[in-house]
Amino acid sequence: MLAVRDFGEADCLVTFLTPAAGRVTAVAKHARKSKRRFMNCLEPFSLVEFMYTEKPQQDLARLESGELVAAFRGLRRSLLPLALAAVLTETTGELVGAKDRLPDIYETLKNSLGHLAAGQPPWSLFLSHLLRLVAQTGFGPQWQSCRLCGQADGSLVWFNPEQGGILCQSCMSRVAGLRLYPLHLGSRKLILAAQHLPLEHLARLRFPELARQETWAVLLPFLRQVIGRELRSWGFLEKILLSA
Ligand SMILES: [Zn+2]
Repeated sequence: MLAVRDFGEADCLVTFLTPAAGRVTAVAKHARKSKRRFMNCLEPFSLVEFMYTEKPQQDLARLESGELVAAFRGLRRSLLPLALAAVLTETTGELVGAKDRLPDIYETLKNSLGHLAAGQPPWSLFLSHLLRLVAQTGFGPQWQSCRLCGQADGSLVWFNPEQGGILCQSCMSRVAGLRLYPLHLGSRKLILAAQHLPLEHLARLRFPELARQETWAVLLPFLRQVIGRELRSWGFLEKILLSA
């Protein structure tokens, strides 16, 4: 479940991610008046088995019924896991399109919400799954080697969101006017691991403080560049970080 909003007098507009059809938006008729058909199903982040029908030439599907599979209530224990779950779902909803590896993306998002709800270290889970999701949607930056000279080594490299990749230390000193964010080798190793580890091992990755800061500091400007607008969940997370 990605988002729910009111629609007309009594209906709701529900957006959700499916393993086969990607992002779907459907009208839930009379959902605000008759709660029974969609009991507990229209909460953000929930895993739900929906029955819906689609008509050709219509953008909106029609939601017939729903059955809650998992509510991930643990996400609501505190603000940080909730904010991180919001960033994961909203960002995935924006990046996902017809050409994507939909079943993999669906499984990654489901996995991330389950682990976050279970109370595991939120930042590490968030970053490893977000990196995986960005790579799976096909927007993944080039983390392996320098965009200019191809050099793959270096204890410190610089990320440029416009180029969607890294520059080595010597290329970085020759270019001017680029936005550059530092990435130490430890951070880059974690970023690469997040893309290649089997999904069931992804939750074991741990981002120490420096890697956490560096990775989020490059991901946010990169996502802004790719999506081209500000998402509400990013603002929510940034607000929590400032007040912490
Ligand atoms: Zn270089």
